[in-house]
Amino acid sequence: MGGSSRVAKSWQEMGREAIVLDTAHNAANDLGTSEAHDTIIRMLQATDPDGKALVGLLGVELPCNTWSLCRGRGRGPPRLRDLRHIDGLPGLVPKNLEKVAQANAQIKNAVAWIRCSCAQGVPGYLENGRRSLIWHHPLVLELIQEGLCWVSVLDQCQYETEYRKRTLLLVWGVPENAFDFLRCRAPRGICSRTGLAHLHLEGVDQNGRFKTAAAQVYPVKMAQAIAMKFAGH
Ligand SMILES: [Zn+2]
Repeated sequence: MGGSSRVAKSWQEMGREAIVLDTAHNAANDLGTSEAHDTIIRMLQATDPDGKALVGLLGVELPCNTWSLCRGRGRGPPRLRDLRHIDGLPGLVPKNLEKVAQANAQIKNAVAWIRCSCAQGVPGYLENGRRSLIWHHPLVLELIQEGLCWVSVLDQCQYETEYRKRTLLLVWGVPENAFDFLRCRAPRGICSRTGLAHLHLEGVDQNGRFKTAAAQVYPVKMAQAIAMKFAGH
C-alpha cells in the first residue's frame, strides 16, 4: 500500500501525506481482511494536536478482475458476476469462488474506509473501469444516494495510453463536480488525442497475458492529474 501507487508518489512529491490502497501491483496486499480494515481506520483517525487528520488523501485502487464485464468474451477469462448476481454467479469453481469472496470483502472494507474518510474530512477516490460491476454494488450506490460521493469520468487515452479505457472515479470530500478529467471526444474508435484507432484490450497479448491485466497500471500522467486535482482542493 502507498509507495507502489503512482498517485501516492505524485501526491508525496507535493509534500502531502496519502494512503493509496493498491492491490493491482501486489496480489499479496489483501485489503479484504479485518486486520487491513482496522489498520486503515486507525490511520484515517490519526490527527495532529489541532484535531486535523494526518492523512490528506485516501485512494482505493481495487483490481477490476472479478468485477469486469469484459470477461466471458473472446479468449479472456470467464465472467464471475452479472447484474443479478453482484456477489458472484452461482456454481463458480472453488478457485473463482475464492477470488470473488476476496473481492467482496475488499469492497466492504473499502466502503467502511470511505465512510470513515468522509467523517474525518479526508478526501479521496475509488477507481474502476466504466463497465465494472462495482458501480452496481449496493454499498457503492448507497454512498452516492446519500450524497457522500460523486462520480467523475476519464479516458486513459487522454493521459497517453494507446487504449481508451474509460474509467470512473468515485470521489468524496470534495464538492460535487469541483473538478473534471479529460475525455476522448472522437467517434468510432478513433482517438481524439492521437487521431489513431484505439488499441483493444480484449483477449491476450503475444505473451499470453490478459490485455486487461496489462492495463491495470496507471499511466503516469493520469496519476499526476488525479493527485493535482485533489491537491487543488
Ligand atoms: Zn482516445
